Amino acid sequence: MLDEFSSAKAAPVWGFFVLVALYITGVVMVNKTSVSDGVILIFDQPIAHRSLTGAFSSISNLCLVMLVVLYKKPGFYVSLFALATSFPALITRILHHNYTVIPGIFVNCVMIIIIIIIYRTTSRSARYQEKMRDLALTDRLTGLPNRYAASEMMNGLIQKNEPFAFAVINLNYFKNINNAMGQQAGDKALIQIGNRWQKLADDGTTGTNDFVASQSGNEFSVIIRDYASEEQLRNSVERYADALKEKIVIDDSDFVLTASIGYATFPGDAKDGDTLLNCAYSAMIQAKKMDHTGLICRFETGMLGSSHTIEMESKIRSALDNGRFFFNLQPQFDMDHKLRGFEALARMKDENGQFISPGEFIPVAEKAGLVDRIDHEVLIGATAFIGEMVQKYHSDVILSVNASVRHLLRNGFVDEIREALNSSGLPAEQLEIEITESVMIDSVEKAIECIHQLTELGVHIAIDDFGTGYSSLSYLNTFPVDVLKVDQSFIIKMHSGEASKQYVAAIIAIGHVMNFRVVAEGVEETDQLEDLKEIGCDYIQGFLWGKPMSPEDAAKLMEEESVRCG
Ligand code: C2E
Ligand code: MG
Ligand code: MG
Repeated sequence: MLDEFSSAKAAPVWGFFVLVALYITGVVMVNKTSVSDGVILIFDQPIAHRSLTGAFSSISNLCLVMLVVLYKKPGFYVSLFALATSFPALITRILHHNYTVIPGIFVNCVMIIIIIIIYRTTSRSARYQEKMRDLALTDRLTGLPNRYAASEMMNGLIQKNEPFAFAVINLNYFKNINNAMGQQAGDKALIQIGNRWQKLADDGTTGTNDFVASQSGNEFSVIIRDYASEEQLRNSVERYADALKEKIVIDDSDFVLTASIGYATFPGDAKDGDTLLNCAYSAMIQAKKMDHTGLICRFETGMLGSSHTIEMESKIRSALDNGRFFFNLQPQFDMDHKLRGFEALARMKDENGQFISPGEFIPVAEKAGLVDRIDHEVLIGATAFIGEMVQKYHSDVILSVNASVRHLLRNGFVDEIREALNSSGLPAEQLEIEITESVMIDSVEKAIECIHQLTELGVHIAIDDFGTGYSSLSYLNTFPVDVLKVDQSFIIKMHSGEASKQYVAAIIAIGHVMNFRVVAEGVEETDQLEDLKEIGCDYIQGFLWGKPMSPEDAAKLMEEESVRCG
């Protein structure tokens, strides 16, 4: 179905007839000039008609070659037919003892060989290109078209100004299958569900013309065309939700899955692809918020945030899809300036190469449900890099990564950490997960369970921005925390008076009583450093001793450190 929007443009039909007409004219002229004794004046020079025969013959042969190159199969057969039909006339002439046509026969034979070679070569390369295109547009697991295919389809329809709806289907609690039965079972479930929806679209039972694609992991999309009314569109979307009611069987176990579905229409809700995607996703997130057992939500204007938020959301999506997320590393030191480790901080560039600060994109990503993907990019990149460095320099540096509350509470978070450790070779004891206090307030039990699993792996836990939330000491006691990071706002205030300094001193003292190490964030001045040394802080992280830097610069710092420490 995508072929109708293929980006490779076919040569125009009229060109085919122009080339055939040119060929015929060339052949007629060859026949005329080859037997003519006349002359023609070109720039006052008399030129014999016969000497033009070669030129006309070349033009007609060139037309045949172009027919094959531009029009593939039809061009090839027409060229072959044209060359074959010229043989009887040439042979008749030889029979009448006109041997001047022998070179013509020779040229025709060579031309046949040439066009066969050209045809075979171009068809092979076209087949190869087609295969590459199919691979690039197909989801390897389900065999469905992938999100690039969906966006190609969508852009094609937008260009043709054809109305359609875009539906995002997110499977609820999908990670439960992965957790309970393993990743392979999860894959089987995705394949079964994908097949079921593909069949639904192919059968045409929805009454609309549908294109099903796999967006990513447990997310699918459907582009719905040819609906006569909103009601018909809604019915069509409902068929996809209904298809889930039938249980799926994996390794003799039955499962019933539900999905949250959001949909929006072009051109009614959005006039371009990115906005349409945002609208559909906003509706899907709304569906998820309302009920976790499977709801369909049609997009409504109120679902979108401010235009700034919408713009930022589409920038984040585009940066995630186009590899414009990366990480910086900010060093942490002990009070004697010995390197303790690095905090990995997400960085993003927009499509113009402009940096956008995490302060802007993280809150939007949290709301849009994209922060898990950002955390994942940073986690995979930073563990791979530090894992390599640790092996190279036999270093014991700690890598701290930030995990958003949403990400931490998601099923499968611990598996993600385990996989990152396995693939990077970074020892678990050298990975620290920074979580903010709100985790403890939002979902205490789930958070405690997750943090316990992480500590069982050997991973350390740090409480980020300590002091800005509402954590009570009793909560802190329940959590197997290793590190408290005192927020920069307290460090800045230390100089405003003795009381503020004593406040930080108290946090550090309590931290030590509870057996935590304390990191002071945002240390910019020597005075702050001196005070922190005096009140017994363990580590500092701040512009004074090190700004967030590229992995290359972090590697240099580690090298210097390994030389310094022998
Ligand atoms: P954070 O985790 O508390 O990170 C420390 C922030 O303080 C970083 O800002 C760092 O550049 C900044 N900082 C460190 N030392 C100084 C200093 O001396 N002076 C000043 N003025 N700033 C200093 P950044 O990189 O802009 O990150 C801001 C926040 O965004 C982070 O605060 C964290 O909450 C969030 N964030 C960053 N990367 C990620 C990520 O990969 N995942 C998640 N979920 N959140 C992230
Ligand atoms: Mg942090
Ligand atoms: Mg912080």
